[in-house]
Amino acid sequence: MKILKFGGTSVGSAENIRRIGEIVLNQQEKIIVVVSALGGVTDLLLNVAQKAASGGKITDEFIAIHARHDEIIAALFRGPNVVQTVESLKPLFDELEKIVQGVSLIGELTPKTLDKILGFGERLSSLLISRYLNVPLLDSISLIKTDRNFGKANVDFESTYKLIAEASLNIDQFAVAPGFISSASDGSMTTLGRGGSDYTAALFAAAVNAQQLEIWTDVDGFMTADPRVISKAYTIPNLTYSEAMELSHFGAKVIYPPTILPVFQKSIPIHIKNTLNPLGNGTLIGQPETVGKEHPIKGISSISGISLFTIQGLGMVGVTGISMRLFGALARKEINVILISQASSENSISFAIDSHFAGVATEAISVEFEREIATGSISKLACENELSILAIVGENMKHSAGIAGKLFQTIGKNGINVVAIAQGASEQNISWVVKNSDLRKTLNVVHEAFFLSPYIELNIFLVGIGTVGRDLLDQISRQQEKLRKDHRLNLKLTGVANSRKMIFDRDGINISSLKDTIIQSEVKSDMKEFCRKMVEMNMFNSVFVDCTADEKVANHYLFALENYISVVAANKVAASSEYSRYRALKEMAAKHGVKFLFETNVGAGLPLISTINDLMHSGDRIVRIEAVLSGTLNYIFNTLSKDVPFSKAVRMAKEKGFAEPDPRIDLSGIDVIRKLVILARESGYRIEKEEVGNNSFIPQKYFSSTMEEFWNTISEMDDIFEKQRLVLESNRQKWRFVCVLDQGKASVSLVVVDPGHPFYDLEGSNNILLLTSERYNEYPMLIKGYGAGAAVTAAGVFADLIKVSNI
Ligand code: ADP
Ligand code: ASP
Ligand code: MG
Repeated sequence: MKILKFGGTSVGSAENIRRIGEIVLNQQEKIIVVVSALGGVTDLLLNVAQKAASGGKITDEFIAIHARHDEIIAALFRGPNVVQTVESLKPLFDELEKIVQGVSLIGELTPKTLDKILGFGERLSSLLISRYLNVPLLDSISLIKTDRNFGKANVDFESTYKLIAEASLNIDQFAVAPGFISSASDGSMTTLGRGGSDYTAALFAAAVNAQQLEIWTDVDGFMTADPRVISKAYTIPNLTYSEAMELSHFGAKVIYPPTILPVFQKSIPIHIKNTLNPLGNGTLIGQPETVGKEHPIKGISSISGISLFTIQGLGMVGVTGISMRLFGALARKEINVILISQASSENSISFAIDSHFAGVATEAISVEFEREIATGSISKLACENELSILAIVGENMKHSAGIAGKLFQTIGKNGINVVAIAQGASEQNISWVVKNSDLRKTLNVVHEAFFLSPYIELNIFLVGIGTVGRDLLDQISRQQEKLRKDHRLNLKLTGVANSRKMIFDRDGINISSLKDTIIQSEVKSDMKEFCRKMVEMNMFNSVFVDCTADEKVANHYLFALENYISVVAANKVAASSEYSRYRALKEMAAKHGVKFLFETNVGAGLPLISTINDLMHSGDRIVRIEAVLSGTLNYIFNTLSKDVPFSKAVRMAKEKGFAEPDPRIDLSGIDVIRKLVILARESGYRIEKEEVGNNSFIPQKYFSSTMEEFWNTISEMDDIFEKQRLVLESNRQKWRFVCVLDQGKASVSLVVVDPGHPFYDLEGSNNILLLTSERYNEYPMLIKGYGAGAAVTAAGVFADLIKVSNI
């Protein structure tokens, strides 16, 4: 015989009930089908009951429950069967209505009445399904005997097993039974607790010594984590009973915890299957020898809405019986303690319970320890709320060293504060407590660290979708598939802002439709709000990418780094601002184990900063840097000719997208100074922009005028440059705007170079860097290539992103 249990979703629509028919009626052996209420109906009933008790109107919920059943009946049955089935359910609805009326008249809802009301869900669904399958209906209420602990009754196994075994003798091949409901010896209806239909099925299985218990639900099996939170969770093929027990104890709702014991005692395997995907393998839960041992950690589960109590006092040290009294007091109030952690000094003990019971627990403990609290030997009873418990579970954990170390290192590195820790003595689980607001992030981080998730995810928050930002997005969408396939790296765009609007999506923004999405967004762009939201989303592996040239954006880097979010900046404002600010950002990144990268600040995509970093890290010392770092200026000076005067060349540089939005930042040498300052700092020199010598090649007045005046007057320089150009041409010489760092002293100037000079052949907007270090001394290192342009800059930003993800 087999027991098949179908949960709320599985019985929640006509289509799914038809699936049940196909799954059940094709089997050869005897089968008892245990069913839940239609999905959501128990919650509606709970609402009805509570509202009735407080005098509220309940018509809507009542109509909703009725409609759910009627709709399914209309879709499943044909001809006179429709009316007959509706009629057969009618007495139940009438009974329910009367009880609810009673509750609203008296204005009180006892636990006993609540059980009675909640039980209607299963009574209705089982009747409906037994009629659809055309098989007899068993009466679980009279077969499953319990005490009178309404809400979550304790089963009397002996009489239950006997009654079920007797009833099973009369089953021809199939029977349907409602889950969840039971009765006490005086006949009062009881329930087995929310989610209790699984338990009903296990009781049936144990009573008839079934060959298998099948739990049919709405996911592909027991998964490495709750798939509603971790989209990358995957099905665990095998679990031992105790692993399943631990995972469900710590919140994996897929199976109700008490379900496991009855079938474990009889060594009946549990098979978790998906009604919506019957051909999937599902999860097999059984004895250790029958299930695989591939992975030390099998799954993570979690419960939110937890309160953590701490009792502290010198009076607790070495006094036997304190814990016994403490947990005895809680047990008498039927409070389930989920986690206990005791300091080794014994002067404090912490335990976690469901927050709903926090008030009752405080009262119970205060009464139990009244004397100790009065005398001061217990000095503190503290309760912290809005917490969550997480647990990683696996029987093989005890054979693998270093799991706890790796776990807490991973959590710490992501800026998550652990409030309490406990390790089961069986070493099958490690559980710990974090704030509710850190739960999702913690689950993600731990899942990624332990479960060989198909992907490592990088959550990108991008500001600026002008030329560089747009190219970056193009490159990301082109590379996304390959990175996923070859490197398990999933680049996910989770937030975007331009100067007008911003959008967020924790599941990833579609890059191809971004333009429309951002136009349609109703959220005005605001950097402070953008960063607040980015932190609030609290996603692990987040990176803030700045593709603007805006000081206002750069002002938020420290906030991001403080919140354990890496920063990749194409914007050079921050790295070239005051030295103290640059230092503070670097230090915050190092302290929080995140990255602050800005390779494209100098030489666009050329690996200048990373080369200097590599040399420095390996113990080299940078002695001298000589470079042409302004793609714009190089382009301008290379473009000057008889036909292209100076002012036109400046305009062309701007049109080609080489120049800064305000080209004077290039012309004044400021842009190169910023770059040189960054290189010098990365080379270990403490330097400010004001300390860089600058011999400007155009008069100051152009820099103090407005942009418009600048464009109107800059042609005044054309003649001067043309005269000089002719001289240079006759000498076969060239202009180069060169910057030099020598033993920490820095300067920039326009120089004239002869043929044969390494900078002589430097086409278009290219950059070149000549680097002399202690190692590269006689022959300096030379790096040369495109030093400006959206595509190469975007590629450099992309390279930084890859560095953040550490693949
Ligand atoms: P049913 O109505 O079939 O009894 P439940 O809602 O009680 O279904 O349990 C199934 C749900 O449990 C899944 O939809 C999933 O969201 C949740 N769940 C939580 N943790 C896990 C896990 N580790 N594996 C699978 N499902 C889980
Ligand atoms: N219908 C009950 C509930 O929602 C029992 C179950 O679904 O297992 O809690
Ligand atoms: Mg369930």
